[in-house]
Amino acid sequence: MIVSSYNPAEPGDLVVAVEAAGSDGVGAAVERARAAQAGWWAAGAAVRAAALGRFAEAVEARAAELAALIVREVGKPVAEARGEVARTAAIWRYYAQAPFAPAGAVHEPAAGEGLLLTRRRPYGVAGLITPWNFPLAIPTWKAAPALAVGNAVVLKPAPEAVACALRLAELAVEAGLPADVFAVVPGGAEEGEALVAAADVVSFTGSTAVGRAVVAATSGRGVPVQAEMGGLNAALVLPDADLGQAAGHLAAAIAGYAGQKCTATSRVIAVGEAYEPLREALVKALAAVPAADPAEERTVCGPVIGEAALARITGAVDSARAAGATVLAGGDRADRAGWYLEPTLLEDVPAGHPLLAEEFFGPVAVLLRAADLDEAIALANATSHSLATSVHSRDLDTALAAADRLDAGMIRVNAPSSGVDFHLPFGGARSASYGSREQGQAVLDFYTASRTVTLLPAGTPR
Ligand code: NAD
Repeated sequence: MIVSSYNPAEPGDLVVAVEAAGSDGVGAAVERARAAQAGWWAAGAAVRAAALGRFAEAVEARAAELAALIVREVGKPVAEARGEVARTAAIWRYYAQAPFAPAGAVHEPAAGEGLLLTRRRPYGVAGLITPWNFPLAIPTWKAAPALAVGNAVVLKPAPEAVACALRLAELAVEAGLPADVFAVVPGGAEEGEALVAAADVVSFTGSTAVGRAVVAATSGRGVPVQAEMGGLNAALVLPDADLGQAAGHLAAAIAGYAGQKCTATSRVIAVGEAYEPLREALVKALAAVPAADPAEERTVCGPVIGEAALARITGAVDSARAAGATVLAGGDRADRAGWYLEPTLLEDVPAGHPLLAEEFFGPVAVLLRAADLDEAIALANATSHSLATSVHSRDLDTALAAADRLDAGMIRVNAPSSGVDFHLPFGGARSASYGSREQGQAVLDFYTASRTVTLLPAGTPR
């Protein structure tokens, strides 16, 4: 089978076509990675740290080329693509320090003499399954910590972003990582399932349905797994908020990269008298970020990833319209070739409509009204897959109270819901996330097994 990726801004532009690995190819890649892992681990902290540092340098040296590839392959606006490349380099550099972090602790025995140690050890081969929307940063934020603590990695990227992943594999060679320690296996569900069946630890990011299947299959083998899945994120706007600032942030969170971030805002909840002025400001702010060519410097909202995605999103907007919703902004395909939808805002969407219950991964949001903060929090929490929620208010007490009561993995005050620093734990609430958090230091534990060592002086009576 051939894996092909196409430019979403120019659907006739084939970015790459490669042979899929097939399940046998995945099994072979895992075996080769397993053989290479022992040497990578034995090489020691300084060797691993230096290699990860060189990976950062290789990314930086190719920054313009990599940003252009992201723009072409997944339609990310060029300013954001540059940001993703910079973040990718920063993640490699950050985890380049991790090999020297303490790998365990020393404890006092409960009674008597002796030394109690905990030590952390890599599992072996980390199987990484990634989506297309952050085609360099997500593979990196999984691979870099896994490699830092001594695992080898086999990456199964999304077919839509296979060229970016293959470029990362080339940079791994340039950075001097040993052969087979960082492998990429092109393919789709078959290859993903084969990786889940063979790896020693699995990390997944993607849609909720696939993530749940990956968790079930991996944990069924008794193998550690983490999964980051879809989000249905809310923004709460209080009457005391700086509404101009909030509208700007919301427009970025709704329309930025055509809403194709797991942390994008799809429900805007205006509290009390904030509703009317926010509606006006938000319609204006969305009009300022029209769907446009992602290669253009000022573009905020590019195309969505493909024809099927666009049909699904426009279908949901049309069905809301038919059910009595009002389209306040956008709602239609942009008048240009490529898979573009104008940034869209709706109000009076009936309760229970799919736009309020499912992730559509497009530049679309629903405006909701809440009488007070309590109702706003109840509306925000009325989903099982909340990843990131933003709160817009000038009052710190209100913002902190909301942050305590919101059921979300990440809460951002006076900031767009999208975007979290790479050195902080990243993940969602309830069904948006399974297992360990990603990013930051916590993830180093995920990629290692802990063992407890008890040392007693020779001759100690039992
Ligand atoms: P997807 O679930 O379709 O695919 C994700 C990956 O899983 C791809 O590599 C795909 O080939 C693979 N896959 C498909 N079927 C599989 C199977 N049966 N077994 C194993 N692997 C399989 O998601 P996508 O369309 O690539 O990405 C968009 C989704 O990713 C959105 O839902 C978005 O919210 C989510 N996402 C979440 C986060 C987060 O951190 N929470 C970050 C980015 C994207």
